[in-house]
Amino acid sequence: MKVIVKRSARRKKTIQARMVDGAMVVMAPATISDEELDEHISRFRAKMEMKIAPKDNTHLQKRADYLNRRYFDGALSWKSVSYSYRQMKRHGSCTPADGTIRISSRMKNVPQWVEDYIIVHELAHLVEPNHGKRFKNLVHRYPLSERATGYLMALDAMGHKD
Ligand SMILES: [Zn+2]
Repeated sequence: MKVIVKRSARRKKTIQARMVDGAMVVMAPATISDEELDEHISRFRAKMEMKIAPKDNTHLQKRADYLNRRYFDGALSWKSVSYSYRQMKRHGSCTPADGTIRISSRMKNVPQWVEDYIIVHELAHLVEPNHGKRFKNLVHRYPLSERATGYLMALDAMGHKD
């Protein structure tokens, strides 16, 4: 989430945040320390993400329904598919035991065909928990899986530089 900080000398104590075109605009007093500001920003961010989460998760549910029909004959079922804001290294995770699928919120910023690959990958884990041959065969039903893997490797490599 993009954060824009606006400091104002006229503002005395109160800090406020609102969403403008997908970015979080934080209005803070000019005198606030960076440390204190960071604390507020992370609290605001968590709140905002909770607010926008339902809409985003509906998007994930729709994609998962579509991919299930297209590549798994509609045979799969799961309890929930939602974004995770804590998965900074992994792209997604699946807990077959309780049918929960989590997709890293970083996937909001990749092309849809790449996010679709991650969803297919996690859906396939509902059938095959490990990454064996049967799992790979399932995932490769999605024709762009090789390309998506390459895309994500490049993305991760870039991420590690900064
Ligand atoms: Zn996996």
